[in-house]
Amino acid sequence: MSRFLRRHIAEMRGYAYGAQPLDPEVVKLNTNENPGPPAPGVAALLRTLDVESLRRYPEATAAAFRRLAAEYHGLAPGQVIATRGGDELLRLLFTSCMEPGAGFGMVTPGYSLYPVLAAIQQCEVIEFPLGEDFALPADLAARMNARGVRMTCISNPHAPSGHYFTREEIEHFLDRFDGLLLLDEAYADFVEPAIAWGAAELVRERDQLVVLRSLSKGYSLAGLRFGYGLGPADLLRGISEKTRDSYNLDAISQQLAVAALRDRAHAERNWRLVRRRRAELRRGLQQLGFSVPPSQGNYLLAFAPAGVQAGELQLALQRRKLLVRWFDEPRISGALRITVGREEEQARLLECLAELLAAGGKSEAGKASFSCPSSGDGDFSPP
Ligand SMILES: *Cc1c(COP(=O)(O)O)cnc(C)c1O
Repeated sequence: MSRFLRRHIAEMRGYAYGAQPLDPEVVKLNTNENPGPPAPGVAALLRTLDVESLRRYPEATAAAFRRLAAEYHGLAPGQVIATRGGDELLRLLFTSCMEPGAGFGMVTPGYSLYPVLAAIQQCEVIEFPLGEDFALPADLAARMNARGVRMTCISNPHAPSGHYFTREEIEHFLDRFDGLLLLDEAYADFVEPAIAWGAAELVRERDQLVVLRSLSKGYSLAGLRFGYGLGPADLLRGISEKTRDSYNLDAISQQLAVAALRDRAHAERNWRLVRRRRAELRRGLQQLGFSVPPSQGNYLLAFAPAGVQAGELQLALQRRKLLVRWFDEPRISGALRITVGREEEQARLLECLAELLAAGGKSEAGKASFSCPSSGDGDFSPP
């Protein structure tokens, strides 16, 4: 490491992102991308883009997008901030709201970017394990207050389990919590409409809640890098006017994001399809002996059958050009996190898993070895 890096940066661990291979043969079920295409309006806009318009700086606050998002959520444009992916919103909250040394409440398991951002800002990360079935402990707010937690992030649907917290649970928490809650709704679009509730409503009444939304998952635009936050106008104004890059969103992505949001009917068709495939994938995995908690995200956390090492299974799948995610972390190291994919992708995954489990079961070492032949060149290794 360079001597010019600040010491805590040199010593911290960075975010481990999922592999993004270019090989089109790879079945990519590792980073929760949407299997459906972006809206036709997005493609049409890209084809007719006026290159001359790039000579100018973009609109600084993505006003057109914010107006549209505000209307969708029943809020004022001042209660919306547009950011380079939901991830930029997270970073801005840390740099704007967290003093170095301040307590960050990390609900575990959870999105591994949160503690990385906390480390950059030199915050103290205090862990709070979720309860049985990934439920929020009833006394979580009191325990966080007692430890002086200034901010916490909770994803809903929860990543990586897919568990969905009810409005009552979140309100119970907010009624008692002294700090700021970032409710991460990156996957909210995939929730069954019958149980979905909008945290945007709570933003109207609370000064301690920011809701993260993203176009990456629900709108099939992970490559665009566009997300937004809903929150109290005075907090968002402080961030927008002081810590945000003045031109954080380029002119092209602002236009494309507007086009995507305008065609919500297209996105909704993708959401419906994802929900159907999610149910099919869950059934398929259960038939193979996996234990799979119900998920409201576009992914499943599949606990491997007894005696099967999930980490080895992930590597064996990778050798066969099937990418899924495995986290070497307490509670979830026995599971694979699998993105809901297209029908043929899921079929290939299930077929491969069936073969691997059968081969693993026959190994003499007493533990699964998964030494079955790989498809293609067999030397695939992600960057
Ligand atoms: C994908 C994701 C985000 C935001 O991702 P962006 O692509 O930056 O919008 C936030 N939280 C969780 C848990 C996610 O999985």
